[in-house]
Formats: sequence, structure tokens, C-alpha cells
Amino acid sequence: MMDTNIDLTLSALKHIHNMTESVYTSKQLIDKTIKNLHLQDSKLNAYITILDEYAFERSIAMDEKINRGEELPLAGVPIAVKDMLAFKGYPTTAGSRTLENFIPTFNSTVVEKLINAGAVIIGKTSCDEFAMGSSNEHAFTGPVHNPWNLDCVPGGSSGGSAATVAARGVPLSVGTDTGGSIRQPASFNGIYGLKPTYGRVSRYGVVAFASSLEQVGPMAYNIHDLALLLSVIAGHDPKDSTTLNEVVPDYHTSLDQGIKGMKIAVPDNIYDGANKIMQSKINAALEIFKNNGAEITEGISIPSWESALPAYYLIAPSEASANLSRYDGFRYGQSSVEYSDLWQRLENTRGLGFGKEVKRRILLGTYALSAGYYDQYYKKALKLRTMIKNDFKKIFNDYDFIMTPTTPAPAFKIGERITNPLEMYMSDYYTLPINIAGNPAISIPCGFIDDLPVGLQIIGKDLEEQKLLQCAAVYEKETTWNQEIPSF
Ligand code: GLN
Repeated sequence: MMDTNIDLTLSALKHIHNMTESVYTSKQLIDKTIKNLHLQDSKLNAYITILDEYAFERSIAMDEKINRGEELPLAGVPIAVKDMLAFKGYPTTAGSRTLENFIPTFNSTVVEKLINAGAVIIGKTSCDEFAMGSSNEHAFTGPVHNPWNLDCVPGGSSGGSAATVAARGVPLSVGTDTGGSIRQPASFNGIYGLKPTYGRVSRYGVVAFASSLEQVGPMAYNIHDLALLLSVIAGHDPKDSTTLNEVVPDYHTSLDQGIKGMKIAVPDNIYDGANKIMQSKINAALEIFKNNGAEITEGISIPSWESALPAYYLIAPSEASANLSRYDGFRYGQSSVEYSDLWQRLENTRGLGFGKEVKRRILLGTYALSAGYYDQYYKKALKLRTMIKNDFKKIFNDYDFIMTPTTPAPAFKIGERITNPLEMYMSDYYTLPINIAGNPAISIPCGFIDDLPVGLQIIGKDLEEQKLLQCAAVYEKETTWNQEIPSF
């Protein structure tokens, strides 16, 4: 890479591709990246589409820009994007057979921002169908494999985006997080993943699952790259009225401000149901923050935490049932089914196109919103949501961060939980409440259990992503977890 203002490609990709020359071109880099990705993907299945031709041509265009002296923050850098984000002219499937042949006619705002920043979108990553899932077993293209152990899931729903970064296929990827789908797979893969404050990043052009909960966010294997990517994608968007009109800092330029005097709350319930070894991992991490001047208070009660899972599984399916009603076979997706009348066409289209988990959510949501049960379920869930928000607000009056494990345990085996949805849903125990409250949260690698990575979750005040990143940077400096690379 030429002398762009970033050390990203140099630090991240040089050793992966053995690019020892001090100056190399985006074209060379993309060429190597694509070849490598195809090799890796025969084992990982992390991509739904690898954009060979597009990426190659784009890299040539980026080299021209670089040679002209244009300074773009991600000039020529390969990036993978979850297949939930519309990319004009290229398949965007949301992991669903329903959208198998869907080619958007416009770019999502995040994709547009990546393009404007000079990034080379190298592929669309696999995800659970419509981002519903915690294991990436629910994509129509089959399960994604965890590079740390190919028999294990990579987590979900942004499993493809996490696996390809962990495998060092690309330095950066984009995911979406409705209840943990960036943080949980980041944890299972030993990388960084951040869910921004609700409204920090535009959802325009993102296939909608549960609109009041989800955010697009960055994934990377070092904190600098993660912060840089957040600076690129965050910001107000006139096309998404839920985005916040707040200045976006250059997150990556002030990572070394430390955490002296900052206050960390550790909830009293954090090891309920967690793997025994997890406790020692989190305690060791807390010790590092303490040694860097943070004040830690354990045993903080967050009574509504337990309500988050039931509330989420009413709110998210309810919104999903409304959002997915657009897939009627007329406007989007497949429609080549047999039918004798309009209703049958609708039924058959949806019956064929949607997978089991999506159908389960639509049924759940339709039930919760139906006239007779609205008060009993949906309205109650909204009340719980208010309680959860209030609990978080109270804690953040006194503290800068809340810390928990990201997941109760490391990655599980492929197939192990697919028939037990409740057990599957439990893997988001620590992440769901944050989407309900709307706060930002990050998962950072904090060690290994049985040779599988695990993560620490740091939750922050609304719009205080900068502090979260600073805190993560302190930890990164003192540990080497993110330097471990899986061999598979
Ligand atoms: N695993 C959760 C679910 O299945 C969260 C998914 C997500 O964050 N997109 O709903």
C-alpha cells in the first residue's frame, strides 16, 4: 500500500500475505486476498458471494486515486460486508433463499460510506437467515465454520464476518447486531466487535429484522482498525430518521487516553450460568483495568437483566413479523412457485423461501401482536423494555462502564443447539439487554477456554463509543490475545 494515512494494511496484511515490499499496490493486495479467501472459504464457508471481478477492478481504480495523491482513510483496503447490507448491482440475500436472486438497485448508506472511503468490498458474508440466530447455521448456503475449530459454530448471526476476520482473510468486516450478532461471534472468534449506540450508524438499505433494536457495526482484530472503521461508517443520515445528529469523532486518533479514574460496574449476576473458567478470565481482565487506574465495584444489581431475554423474544419477533411481510413474492425475491390463486401464491412463496427459524419468529411475532394477546405479551414486553432502560440509566449516572463476559461459554459444536431454540437463545444472555437499552457495547478478546476464544463485554453510556474504545485499547496494550491466529 502506498503512503495512505493508515498503518492498517501494513500492520494487518503484510504478514498474512507475506508482502514484504515496503510499497505495494492495492491491486497486488486484492489479488492475493481473493486467492486466499477462496482457499479459506473451502473450509469456512464464510461468504455467500466473493466479488472477484468487482474487487479486482476497484483495486485498480483505487491505485489510480492513491497515485494521484488522494487521501482516503480506507484506500484500497479489502473489507467484507454482511449480506444484510444492500450493495448496488450485486446479490444481497440476507442468508435467505427468499432473496437468493435479489440484486439491489441502490447502496445502503454504510456501503456508500465504505466506497467513499476507498474501501474495496471483497465479498458479502454469510449470516443466519435475516440475522435471526446465534450460530450461523441458518443460512441457505449452509453453516459457517469456526476457524479455531471447524466443528464449532462461529456464532451468529454475523458469523461469516467474524470468521473471515479471525482467519485473517480480511482485516475488517461489517456486521449487524440486533441482540448480540456482532459481539457474540466476535467473542467466539477472538476478535473485536462493536455495537454502536442506537442511531449512531445508518440502517438505510439494511435488510430489516427488528428495526428498534439493530445497529450496523465494525469488526476487526485490533482496536485501531475497529475504531477507524467506526469513524468511517458512523454519522447522521437524512435517509434514516432514527440516526442521531451528533458529531462523529476520529475515534482512532485518540485511543491512548487511558482510563484513569473511570468507574467500572460489575453486575452481581454475571456468572449465572457461565462456564466456570470464564470467571477467572474476567477477573484477570478486571485486574488489568484496576492496575491502569480504573475503580471497580462488584456486586452491582441490575434487577431487570433477567427480563431482557423474554422481552427480546417478544419485541424482536413482533417487529420481524411486520418487517418480513414485504416478502410476498411480488416485490422481492423468488416467486416461481405453483399456485392457483393469489393467496396460494403468497403462501407457497413464503413457505418455500423462509427457513424454520424465520417461520418460528414470524409465528411468534404475529401471535404476540394479535388482537387478543397484544396486551398480554407485546405491551408487557414494552414495559419491561422501559424498566431495562431505566436500570441502565441509573447505573450510568454513577459509572462509566459495565463489564460482563460476552457469552456464557465459548463456541459450541455445529448441530448441538439447532434443535433446542431455548438453549440457543441463552447464548445471547449477556448481549440482549444492551440492544433493548440502546447503549453501545464492545466485545474484546480476553483469552481462551479449551483452545476456543472468549470475550469480555464492555458496555458504555449512550454515544460514548470513544471511551469504550479507549478502555479496550488499554487492555489490548497489556495482552496478546488478539495476536493469536487460528490454523485450520
Ligand atoms: N441471536 C439473536 C437472535 O437470534 C440476535 C440476532 C442478532 O443480533 N441479529 O435474534
